[in-house]
Amino acid sequence: MIPPVLPTYNRAKLHFVKGEGSWLIEEDGRRFLDLGSGIAVNALGHAHPALVKALTEQANALWHVSNLYEIPQQEKLASQLVAASFADTVFFTNSGTEACELAVKMARKYHYERGQPERIEILTFEGCFHGRSSAAIAASGAEKMVKGFGPVLPGFRQLPWGDPEALKAAVGETTAAILIEPVQGEGGIRVLPDQCLKGLRALCDEHGILLILDEVQCGMGRTGRLFAHEWAGVTPDIVMSAKGIGGGFPLGAVLATQSAASGMVAGTHGSTYGGNPLACAVGSAVMDHLAAPDFLAEVNRKAGLLRQKLEGLVADHPETFEAVRGQGLMLGLKCLRPAADVVKAGYEALVILVPAGDNVARLLPPLTITDAEIAEAIARIDAAARSLEPS
Ligand SMILES: *Cc1c(COP(=O)(O)O)cnc(C)c1O
Repeated sequence: MIPPVLPTYNRAKLHFVKGEGSWLIEEDGRRFLDLGSGIAVNALGHAHPALVKALTEQANALWHVSNLYEIPQQEKLASQLVAASFADTVFFTNSGTEACELAVKMARKYHYERGQPERIEILTFEGCFHGRSSAAIAASGAEKMVKGFGPVLPGFRQLPWGDPEALKAAVGETTAAILIEPVQGEGGIRVLPDQCLKGLRALCDEHGILLILDEVQCGMGRTGRLFAHEWAGVTPDIVMSAKGIGGGFPLGAVLATQSAASGMVAGTHGSTYGGNPLACAVGSAVMDHLAAPDFLAEVNRKAGLLRQKLEGLVADHPETFEAVRGQGLMLGLKCLRPAADVVKAGYEALVILVPAGDNVARLLPPLTITDAEIAEAIARIDAAARSLEPS
């Protein structure tokens, strides 16, 4: 019989009842070191006092009013994001998928308003993940996501990862935008080299098309900069955000330049919950921390420490791990046995890893993880790897 909850997930038999910083407490009392952060969501760890305070204060004042009215919490968070990034303007959504929807609409509207309505095609890349809506699955093109769901939405074209010639050949008169993750998350922590991102920017400029970056997973401090594209010194036209931006409260955003957003006038887009006072109050508190002077420097220092220790772990377990990859605190262990087995062994060793494509076990710890917790994480992954290896 079908369970009351639609069974679309492969859930681990774990039932967490409480979170504290980098720790998740199971119903039976076991304490798990959380290197998943709810898939890069709990950027400041679990139950961060400043987020709890922001949420409860707002909850006591006002939950929801609708975008028919002014929402000062939205204006505050948008101003924080604009001040800290390339963007001139922000639209708030509830999720990454919805950010993808708007990014696509915005890019097409941009060309439409400039007298080029034929520019509708969005170029995407093999291994990408942009969400689960009809547009987002069409953007991915992966068979497991589109098969059986009827006609795939037209206007998307997938290209191989790391093939600049194929890309150049694909850009034409109907191209509207290039959509790419600076670091692929679900695809297996694949970092787009800075040179490639620069090349994409140049190609977009040459053809008058827009560069949309999906920073839903790699943004909001995850790689050690507020947005991953900052490492390459590239200015995008549109950036999708979600996951870490709400620190665990559902929130997403589309950030854009004035030019890219110019077609989105009143009535062209909307959302009932998007930018709700609760979400924006929490998002503002997250931004207060990320924008604090030393926060990202600390993320980078800890990322260096974790990476160095992981390299040692790979050297110690040549039968289990092939390599470490990623950037900042968005890291992947490329596995030589099924990554799912490594993740499972992690559960036994009380450490949470997240499986990804390309046989990678992901590490996406809270950005607030401590040095002592990093040492403990390594000890636990070491134990997990040993449990899989013949003694
Ligand atoms: C998770 C994710 C999405 C989708 O976000 P949802 O909030 O689940 O809709 C889109 N893009 C990337 C890169 C993601 O990691």
